[in-house]
Amino acid sequence: MPDPSLPLDPSTVVVTAGRPERSPGAPVNPPVVLSSTFVSTGVPPAGELFYGRNDTPTWHPFELALGALEQSARPALVFGSGMAAIAAALSLVPPGGRVVLPRHAYGVTLAYAHDLTARSGIEVTSVDIADTAAVTAALRAGRPASMLWVETPTNPMLEVADLPALVAVAHEAGALVVVDNTFATPLVQRPFAHGVDVVVHSVTKYLAGHSDVVLGAALADDPDLHARLHAYRTLHGSVAGPFEVWLALRGLRTLALRVARSQASAAELARRLSEHPAVLEVRHPSLPADPGHARASALMDGYGSIVGVRPRGGADAADAVVDAVRLWVPATSLGGVESTLERRRRFATESPTVPEDLIRLSVGIEDVEDLWSDLERALSRSAG
Ligand SMILES: *Cc1c(COP(=O)(O)O)cnc(C)c1O
Repeated sequence: MPDPSLPLDPSTVVVTAGRPERSPGAPVNPPVVLSSTFVSTGVPPAGELFYGRNDTPTWHPFELALGALEQSARPALVFGSGMAAIAAALSLVPPGGRVVLPRHAYGVTLAYAHDLTARSGIEVTSVDIADTAAVTAALRAGRPASMLWVETPTNPMLEVADLPALVAVAHEAGALVVVDNTFATPLVQRPFAHGVDVVVHSVTKYLAGHSDVVLGAALADDPDLHARLHAYRTLHGSVAGPFEVWLALRGLRTLALRVARSQASAAELARRLSEHPAVLEVRHPSLPADPGHARASALMDGYGSIVGVRPRGGADAADAVVDAVRLWVPATSLGGVESTLERRRRFATESPTVPEDLIRLSVGIEDVEDLWSDLERALSRSAG
């Protein structure tokens, strides 16, 4: 363990956090412990391992590392998927409560919130999260708001929220604030620094980073909120397998390198795409003309590596681009070392306010010139 009194840069923390104690002969990496149960007699004291759904040692190094990266007062809680963590966070909304949600957010989060409406009478108010006045009005009007859900940048429109302003208004209205920090990662955005109550992640994406695990995490500074999320995980059994968590920690070790590389490539590709004649519109907060540019520059340590692009020629042209690429992988999901792309409206569940022709690019760590050649060839071909 490095001296905790030294303020370490996050790019160091990803490497050092969650290592075993340093002693002669000790392993450098934590072991994977595959055991569903642990030796115990009588009433196990708090903190003693006794059953794998309650707690298991392979979770701890990853939970400590993510807690340190998010600068949380407490370790993260790892869940079996991002959605399991999101369901835990949404369980903090009481029956009959109200949640204010971005109209553009991860589609399954929106679907789950609407499912709660049907089952628990929870009201959902959908907003443009970049429009602070609209979010303020939504928080103040009608039934008291129990929760403000924030994605920033949003999926897939890349709108950037004024996080400190929204936290102030939400807290004044008595609402908890949850941020889905999957797109930004804790290297680019630390929501707790803005007073957010709960942070959730799809660890499946950048944190694990290799498209080989499905995993989630939730974090809370407040001991009561942390205990409620922890209790939800145990009661619902929304737990992760030790091996997946170990893989995620392995992936986390290179997070800083991966994020730096893919963000730089994303900004370069966004710039070139915005000058390409076969392109109608590009969305990436790095572009000076992007509506989220000023806010992202002020609030984030980068612009992320998701790019939205609308080729000329509508949905057919967009499908043609996706079909024509050879290096980019046509696939859903994002945040892996390999670059992927998809036309989001191919899913009937995607919000109708997302343009039909929008392709979401997840920029990986390949050579940027190789990525550009492939994309540019596909674009020129789709333009006929
Ligand atoms: C993928 C994703 C999720 C869901 O996570 P899973 O690990 O797939 O359950 C939630 N939020 C965002 C922003 C995502 O990209």
